[in-house]
Amino acid sequence: MTFDPNCIFCKIVKGDIPAAKVYEDEHVLAFLDISQVTKGHTLVIPKVHQKDIFELSSEVASHLFSVVPKIAHGINKAYQPAGLNIVNNNGEAAGQTVFHYHIHLIPRYGKGDGFG
Ligand code: 5GP
Ligand code: ZN
Repeated sequence: MTFDPNCIFCKIVKGDIPAAKVYEDEHVLAFLDISQVTKGHTLVIPKVHQKDIFELSSEVASHLFSVVPKIAHGINKAYQPAGLNIVNNNGEAAGQTVFHYHIHLIPRYGKGDGFG
């Protein structure tokens, strides 16, 4: 499936729901998480609806991960964190709540920054 009308991230890709976009190309979109665990918490998603790492095609994965360093540099420039976690939950048991593949880029500012 390339688009799921019931998927919140597909609606963001389509422009039906607003999001604070930080990066976009033909195949990938990155935007700020609506509920940021730390300042600058960003989600990176493929534009196609693939629900988790087990559905993600290697072509889509390879392009998505190829642009992650660029997005991470953008976060560093904008927020100057001390570090950055990359997190990806797959399946309800692993904490996934939105079933459209995404990775979390979570800027870290030291102990007590709200994450981990
Ligand atoms: P998961 O728990 O599936 O790994 O992460 C889903 C993330 O999507 C959560 O961090 C949640 O805050 C974020 N999220 C859910 N709905 C929206 C939305 O409508 N807009 C944005 N920007 N983020 C969302
Ligand atoms: Zn979707």
